Amino acid sequence: MRIARVVPEVSLDRAFDYAIPAALDAQLTLGAKVRVPFKSRSLVGYVVDFPEHPHAGKLREIEEVLSTRAFLPARLIELAQWMAHYYCAPLTVALLSVLPKAVRHADAAFKQRLWVAPLVKTVPEDVLLAFKKAKAQKAAWHFLEESGPGWLADLSRDSGISAAAWNGLAERQLIAIEPRTQDRDPYLNTPVAESAPHTLNAGQIAALALVREEITAPKPRVVLLHGVTGSGKTEVYLQAIAHVLSLGKTALVLVPEIALTPQTVEHFRARFVGQKVGVAVLHSHLSSGERHDQWQHIRAGRARIVIGARSAVFAPLDHLGLIVVDEEHEHSYKQEESPHYHARDVAVMRGHLEGVAVLLGSATPSLESYHHAKEGKYRLAELPQRVEEVQMPVTHVLDIRTSKKDEAPTLLAPRLVEAIQARLDRHEQAIIFLNRRGYSSSLQCPQCGYPEMCPNCSVALTFHRRANKLRCHLCDFSGPVPPACPCCGFAPFKHAGMGTEKVEDALAAAFPKARIERMDADTMRGKDAYAKTLGAFGEGKIDILVGTQMIAKGLHFPRVTCVGVINADLALQIPDFRASERVFQLLMQVSGRSGRGAVRGEVFVQTRAPFHPAIQFARHHDYAGFIEQELEIRRKLHYPPYERFILITARGRSEEKTLFVLENLARELTRLDLPATEITGPTPAPIARMEERYRFQVFLRTRRITAVTPRLRPLFMDRAWPDDIRLTLDVDPVDLL
Ligand code: ADP
Ligand code: ZN
Repeated sequence: MRIARVVPEVSLDRAFDYAIPAALDAQLTLGAKVRVPFKSRSLVGYVVDFPEHPHAGKLREIEEVLSTRAFLPARLIELAQWMAHYYCAPLTVALLSVLPKAVRHADAAFKQRLWVAPLVKTVPEDVLLAFKKAKAQKAAWHFLEESGPGWLADLSRDSGISAAAWNGLAERQLIAIEPRTQDRDPYLNTPVAESAPHTLNAGQIAALALVREEITAPKPRVVLLHGVTGSGKTEVYLQAIAHVLSLGKTALVLVPEIALTPQTVEHFRARFVGQKVGVAVLHSHLSSGERHDQWQHIRAGRARIVIGARSAVFAPLDHLGLIVVDEEHEHSYKQEESPHYHARDVAVMRGHLEGVAVLLGSATPSLESYHHAKEGKYRLAELPQRVEEVQMPVTHVLDIRTSKKDEAPTLLAPRLVEAIQARLDRHEQAIIFLNRRGYSSSLQCPQCGYPEMCPNCSVALTFHRRANKLRCHLCDFSGPVPPACPCCGFAPFKHAGMGTEKVEDALAAAFPKARIERMDADTMRGKDAYAKTLGAFGEGKIDILVGTQMIAKGLHFPRVTCVGVINADLALQIPDFRASERVFQLLMQVSGRSGRGAVRGEVFVQTRAPFHPAIQFARHHDYAGFIEQELEIRRKLHYPPYERFILITARGRSEEKTLFVLENLARELTRLDLPATEITGPTPAPIARMEERYRFQVFLRTRRITAVTPRLRPLFMDRAWPDDIRLTLDVDPVDLL
């Protein structure tokens, strides 16, 4: 008798063994969905293995096979196992993130509706006679002749003719009414025109050749495509995918957040619309029905290209030939809930497990990926120039420090105002960008802009109001709050903030005739709000677009020749070792929005820290220069990519208890004597209290991540920590707050 190892849908870190009754044996495959007895209940679960030797104890039997073929491809089970292992997460949690809820839940199915189609071309004589009395049936027939086949409900609604009349036509054998699957296609009503491939330039040809080599290599390596904004990376992706399709394989494309980059999806749909290969799109704005249908189409092989955000990395494609990760440096690839996976890293692992080439693309690759390329682990392709001799914009750094003590900070520098006016006069467009991801718990001098930094860690210190102290959450350094700015003497030393609305008002006051639109989380509520505003901007119905991070990325508007950044340095205060990398990336991305057409663009960066390296290197579009300097800092401080971080956070209503629990945990961690690992903390998190819970952190810094996480597992999975304290473990954390 065979045995099946099953992961039931309960949040336990275990698989359980069941006997397979003879009657079910033939139907059962790896990845099948089954019903199993569990304690006094009956649960749905997934078969993850057929072990030779069962776990100890008497085996219960599988009750029912819910899917005859593998519901989950074996390769994705393997990927989930790796994920559970690497991110130190329960296997169930990992498996359930691979399988979307829309597909999992009990009544997930294609939508069945009644479909009406004519059975005859003309109505027989005798029926024509009968129609004289059956007026409604006659009307229905004529309506159908006009409109063509359709869903019964839609035909009834549009014609205003009741179902009885349609049924009458069916009885007379004039039409057929049959249940049919209705595909819930999110792009049904947004047709695209087919686009032709561009003739590649020399850089693109070289990049494509490299990717093609890896696509057919027996052990493909990851390719990092570093190309400045507007250098034609997307065209390289498209042609690489066309190649993969010609080999009979499929392709997966990850983009940071589809709702924010509708243009990207359009490019892919447009290129492949004529080829009948099926392009599936997976993202957070789909309804659960749409998501179900898209997933099942992919699983059935009806879609051979998948474009999606983070979780699309688990798309159940067979015969995968290439995985593209666009804007690979983006932090939205990191899942902030358990299992805390990073979709780019999962993509690289999936490529490795399935022997598939992976292409990472960015104008500002993450230090992690660039480091791998430099070390020869990844292959590097570079596109240093924009296509068709379009020049990179000229960047001006505008110092907005005030010289007088009581002067309010400048919202719009005079030179920026002049530049915008010039655009309005020439009927060009401007984008004004405001960095709102500031951090109010750190202190920044309103005059010179520098935050107080930790002397040991090169992160901004956080202000703890109650203790009136500045502290570092990485090393627990603590110091007094200086009465005046230690850098320029300005007093008082405090936080200075501003919002998009204020900037919008200032712009409206400066340019009363301009058409100004604001784009941020507050104004972009509706499902289509974003696409609509961008559409209007593209058609030239808006002169100035004001917004947050949202508008920094991926947009291509040839008439934008001026980009203003209101407060470039705000994010430098975030107590995170990646703060300056983030500011640099953001400035490079934002300036990538300027001058993508015939007219050379200009970028105006307002700042209180004009000499900060992140700003200076961005000004010269000097990625390599910035990276070299930043890598050196990371190496000296033992930060990623040289060492790995694991962040353990405890949250609880009682400050003492939360700290106590984490102190115990830290002590046990120390006792484990982990190889090449340094443990710091507990320290209060930079956001020391959130949603009425106190937050404390322990940092692990290690050179041996894969040796360390398995040793942490028992502490987190098998041990009962107090119920009212929430412990989370984040491997390779992105959000350190
Ligand atoms: P990136 O993704 O690197 O920012 P895109 O792929 O969006 O750049 O390319 C910028 C623009 O240049 C797009 O409008 C694209 O259609 C066009 N383009 C790309 N490659 C070529 C080429 N070889 N010749 C002409 N135009 C191109
Ligand atoms: Zn420190």
